[in-house]
Amino acid sequence: MKENIRTFQEGKPLSEEEKKNLLAMADEMVRKIVLPCTACHYCVSHCPQGLDIPTLLAFYNEHCFTKGGFIAPMALSSYPNDKLPSACLGCRSCEAVCPQQIKVSEAMADFAEKLGM
Ligand code: SF4
Ligand code: SF4
Repeated sequence: MKENIRTFQEGKPLSEEEKKNLLAMADEMVRKIVLPCTACHYCVSHCPQGLDIPTLLAFYNEHCFTKGGFIAPMALSSYPNDKLPSACLGCRSCEAVCPQQIKVSEAMADFAEKLGM
């Protein structure tokens, strides 16, 4: 805590070069976040499969962001088969209520293919 306070008590602005690098990194991160799910959960009660859509989409974003990292497959290996992205029926009931107009069915199909599970 004291170290954090020491770090920030000095009002030292970023240099133009540092700002440029920071903005480039932020831009890269935003572009890699595939879907803008806000985890509002409006869709969840509309899924006939009872999928935890916001959590699956968070894993999907993570998986895309890390270009196929191990976290999503590891976490999903503990899920029962009927709760995996591959259990999505493509019915699009969730999409009808999503304020972000996310194409959940397409994301689930793509995620299932990427995971191979
Ligand atoms: S499209 Fe898939 S995730 Fe969406 S409600 Fe239908 S089964 Fe659930
Ligand atoms: S309704 Fe859309 S934004 Fe909200 S949790 Fe579901 S997919 Fe995410």
